[in-house]
Amino acid sequence: MSLSERPLPVHAPMNQFGVAAGQLLVGGIPLERLAARVGQTPFYAYDRQMLKTRVAELRTALPQAVKLHYAMKANPMPALVGVMAGLVDGIDVASGGELKVALDAGAAPREISFAGPGKRRTELTQAVAAGVLVNIESLREVHELASISAETGCAARVAVRVNPDFELKGSGMKMGGGPKQFGVDAEAVPELLAEVGRAGLSFEGFHLFAGSQNLSAQSICEAQRQSYELALRLAASAPAPVRFLNLGGGFGIPYFPGERRLDLTPIGENLEKLLHRASADMPAAELVIELGRYLVGEAGIYVSRVVDRKISRGQIFLVVDGGLNHHLSASGNFGQVIRKNYPVAIGNRMESGPTITASVVGPLCTPLDVLADRMQLADACPGDLVVVFQSGAYGASASPQQFLGHPGPIEVLV
Ligand SMILES: *Cc1c(COP(=O)(O)O)cnc(C)c1O
Repeated sequence: MSLSERPLPVHAPMNQFGVAAGQLLVGGIPLERLAARVGQTPFYAYDRQMLKTRVAELRTALPQAVKLHYAMKANPMPALVGVMAGLVDGIDVASGGELKVALDAGAAPREISFAGPGKRRTELTQAVAAGVLVNIESLREVHELASISAETGCAARVAVRVNPDFELKGSGMKMGGGPKQFGVDAEAVPELLAEVGRAGLSFEGFHLFAGSQNLSAQSICEAQRQSYELALRLAASAPAPVRFLNLGGGFGIPYFPGERRLDLTPIGENLEKLLHRASADMPAAELVIELGRYLVGEAGIYVSRVVDRKISRGQIFLVVDGGLNHHLSASGNFGQVIRKNYPVAIGNRMESGPTITASVVGPLCTPLDVLADRMQLADACPGDLVVVFQSGAYGASASPQQFLGHPGPIEVLV
């Protein structure tokens, strides 16, 4: 087949939202009406019902005994964290600021865990005072926690975050294996565990996180098996029985052409086997998986309005009122190696098929400010609403909102 005959890869269908009278529906509300209700563009909208559905689907596909945690750095909007806190079994935070949001949202301290490199003493003190689980990432943290426990009279609850000796194959972002700033190298963990015991910290278990944005069920299962084996080996050096075993997550969602939704069935079967093994190997341990984008990413859209339509040397540019300043990931500048288009549509012209090839660009004075590069779109003009799908995770909070001094986006939970 020649290059020109090969079928172009397409985006996975974005059929999670309904459509009526040409308008995308968010929580049943037509997009134009929602924009009026919000009072401005650009905005992010997250569909509350979709969050519930996603968690329910996971509960059906995975064994009941597996605990589901929400890694809130994916989307820290307080109202959304409030909804998630009522749906999942725990919240994973990565800073003192996130800890506050999780506690405000009503998450039980028992069910909160705190991971991240370079936790400051004030953050560790907040965590110990709140009674949340701290995932230790260095020897320094052991010593700080020992001194904070002595000072406050509360024994720090700890797990050890392990930098595994393997990587999550095929993941978009590797966060374990090789030299990393995350966790403690697997080979150094026994010595650190001895120190945890000497310091009198309350040891609860292990946290392993190999990587993120993986669409291969097989690679995820493999990483979970390897994480389990590693934790089991390390448990032999632990000062107390393992009660908490966080096997990480890494479940991806389809962003780019050619990507397909993850198949949960093999993951559920694999976790079932691991639970069975754990009941003999580490009978006190509860198995946890922590998910960020998989829980919230597909439930969110970013909406901007077309300000100008320009033609430059034959190419159509739709200039919208927000771009990489609000949505760095969709612009391709948040960890992507090669820029690819997120799924994008004209949200008030959903019933007209694609009739033009156009690029959607933001208002910033940089060529990096691209939301869609030469995509097939409905014919759009100033006033129309451009929707970027798969925007519920790593959107507003992961973008340089001050850059060029435009107003920020509003976030709504519908
Ligand atoms: C970022 C992060 C997550 C969430 O990753 P997603 O790809 O959003 O699922 C989970 N655990 C840890 C430790 C993280 O740093």
